Amino acid sequence: LLSMKSVKKSFGGVEILKDISLEVKEGEILSIIGPSGSGKSTLLRCATLLEDMDDGELSYNENTVCKSVDGKAVYESQSKLREISEYFGLVFQNFNLFPHMNVLQNICDAPIRVQKRDKESVKEEAFSLLKKMGLEDRAGAYPYQLSGGQSQRVAIARALALNPKILFFDEPTSALDPELTGEVLRVIKSLSDLKIAMVIVTHEMAFAKEISDKVIFMSDGVIVESGTPEEVFASTNERMKNFIGALS
Ligand code: ATP
Ligand code: MG
Repeated sequence: LLSMKSVKKSFGGVEILKDISLEVKEGEILSIIGPSGSGKSTLLRCATLLEDMDDGELSYNENTVCKSVDGKAVYESQSKLREISEYFGLVFQNFNLFPHMNVLQNICDAPIRVQKRDKESVKEEAFSLLKKMGLEDRAGAYPYQLSGGQSQRVAIARALALNPKILFFDEPTSALDPELTGEVLRVIKSLSDLKIAMVIVTHEMAFAKEISDKVIFMSDGVIVESGTPEEVFASTNERMKNFIGALS
């Protein structure tokens, strides 16, 4: 479903992603862990076209987003990229809800306006998503009336309303108080039965261990360890041990 090969990205002459390759299959859950500044967000931003990579290959479902030509990433046309971007959704740390729209409008806006889908069926789907998120009674609320955990669950519903095949999360709970983290993690976990693939950057190690099919440990712009949760968390690599040690 998602394939990245030899991805490289620098900012101001500093190489932030050094040679990153990874694959995510349909329905698979990949967690990315690693110290602050290791390049996790940059990797998600490259995968979701918020940032152009310098070199490497990216494709969704065999649709090429960019390929490497003479050591440089060459991207497909804007119209092709718009089409391919229907494959994925992104949930940020800070929710990024539209403040002037209520919950229902936040969820329905893009499916109706961008995807030009039928209003009534989008609304119906939005209500069923809200139910799944435990928010069926909050459809008319505005973002300022929601707790952080509720806001994040609305942001997840909004991403799901676009029917992505793969959903990226960048530290979805790190802006939340500990007591609100659990409700968001539970919702993310409940998505695994929707069969959409997920790529989750998280500092919640127990969660990553429990939910993931695969885990990647990044440090200084390289993938240091990658494998099943059992393999990665049992790693004897120094950097991995230091990272885990620093958390506990
Ligand atoms: P964290 O766990 O703190 O979120 P991260 O692993 O997500 O860290 P990134 O945000 O990808 O790390 O940043 C990696 C490095 O790239 C950092 O040193 C950061 O300062 C740098 N960086 C990221 N975005 C930019 C940018 N737009 N311009 C310049 N430098 C950037
Ligand atoms: Mg980050």
